[in-house]
This record gives sequence, structure tokens and C-alpha cells, in this order.
Amino acid sequence: MLRSRIAPTPSGFLHEGNIAAFLYTWLLVQKANGELLLRIDDLDNERFREAYLNYIFEVLQATGISYQTGPTNAQECHTQWSQQLRLPMYEIYLQQLWQTGHLYACTCSRQQIAKHQCKCFQQKLPQHTPQAAWRLHIPDNTNIQWHDEALSNVSIQLNEVQHAPIVKRSNGLPAYHIASLADDVHFGINCIVRGEDLLSSTALQLHIASLLQLDAFLQCRFLHHPLMQSETGEKISKSAGDAHLQMHPPLPDIRRCIQQLVQWFPQQFDNNATANTAADLLNYML
Ligand SMILES: [Zn+2]
Repeated sequence: MLRSRIAPTPSGFLHEGNIAAFLYTWLLVQKANGELLLRIDDLDNERFREAYLNYIFEVLQATGISYQTGPTNAQECHTQWSQQLRLPMYEIYLQQLWQTGHLYACTCSRQQIAKHQCKCFQQKLPQHTPQAAWRLHIPDNTNIQWHDEALSNVSIQLNEVQHAPIVKRSNGLPAYHIASLADDVHFGINCIVRGEDLLSSTALQLHIASLLQLDAFLQCRFLHHPLMQSETGEKISKSAGDAHLQMHPPLPDIRRCIQQLVQWFPQQFDNNATANTAADLLNYML
């Protein structure tokens, strides 16, 4: 059975690009009679706002994106589904990576890393060095390949796109790559839909999954969709957010999200698609 997930981050308000992507994931799941998980990526305490979290539930309800697994409101998210509750699980993976010699503690600043001044891998600092982040050592010429359902065959030189990536922050929290990978395995996800801005994350996660022998993740279907353009033609990415939307934004215009989706994947929808709701669009999906 196809099992996919949508994984919004409550560190900003969702934008139409996010929603178009969620809509596409929902359509794929519906089409395959699969299961959809709502996972809230709430590890980032500093940028978390309850208003962002509530907005996620409002938007999903308004757009008709239904899911079988996951929280149905903010309260359930905090008490039953938060990533904070799965920290021990993430730590197990981090320890495995440490024990097998793939991680090192590093106390360098971002500037030192950018200037390639870090010697921490050679110095073998102790695991519990104060203020240290844990980084993944990636051997030179590590090439990651997969078949992507939107981009066909992808081949990435991991060192060129991920330089000494942090897997555990100096504040003790696991990085996105670890939490997302561990969660996908934990929830039995076998189809991952995400934006092209996360291609290098997928490559890194596939590399980590092979180090941890997480075959379920290595066998996932991957599909990377284009990013939505803003009115000025720039790409809107999830992490950038919309800085000008400091107030609670209006609910998204679902027709714009649907138009965006059909532009991304014209070959997957009937030319005559004139859908106004997610459920309508399903009828036009080839
Ligand atoms: Zn260092």
C-alpha cells in the first residue's frame, strides 16, 4: 500500500507553494487508495509559534486535504504526535552513526566551516564536548543516485552539496535530516513528495539510510516537484517563508494552488481540468 506524508513546519505560515505540494501528495494517495500521514515537523523550538500550528489545521480543513494518521488539532499534536516525543528514537540513530565512526564533534563557527578551517574530524573530540555540534563525515566522491518520479535519474556528488552537515545541533536537538528520516521509517512511509529545494537533503538522507541499513527508506519512491514562483518570479521555498505575512494570513486561494499544480505536472492532468476543489481535481487526474 502506498503510504505518504505531508510534513509542514510550524515555523512560519504555510504558503500556496506548500499547499500545492500537499494537494499533489493527497491526490497520489487517493488515486492509489493509500494512506496519508500528517507529520508536524516541530523540532525547531525557537521559531515555533502556536499560530503557525493552528493555521496548518485550518488550511488542511479548508482545502479538503484529508489524512488517515496524525493529529487533528494543535492539542493532539503536542500531547501525542510532536517530534519532541520521539527524541529518544532519533538519539538511537545518532548513537549508531557515532559508534560506527561516521560522526565527529565540532566546535567551529559557521565562518570557520565555510573557510575550511575545521580540523575537528582529525582531532577526534570526545562525544560530549560542551557546545559541540555533531557533524557527518562524508568521504570524497560520495555519489548518490536514485530514480526520481519527476526528474527521472538523479545523480548527486554529495560533498558538493552537503559540506560537513550537522546531524545534531550544539543545543542537543537532532537536525532535520535525522528526524525526518527516522520518522519516515518509523511511520512506514514508502513515497516521499517534496520540493526541489530538498534534493540535497534527499541525497544526504539516502546516504545516512545506507550507513544505517534502513532498507525501507532506500526503497522509497521519491518525487521532487518544482518550487512555486512568487509574483516577482522568485522561488518561494518553505524555509524562506513569506516575511511580509506577519499577521494571520487569509486562507489560501485553492484555485491558485490547483493551477500551480497543473502547471507543474501538465501531463498528469486532463487538459480540460477546471477544478475548484481538491476532490474535483481528482476527477481530472490521469
Ligand atoms: Zn570543527
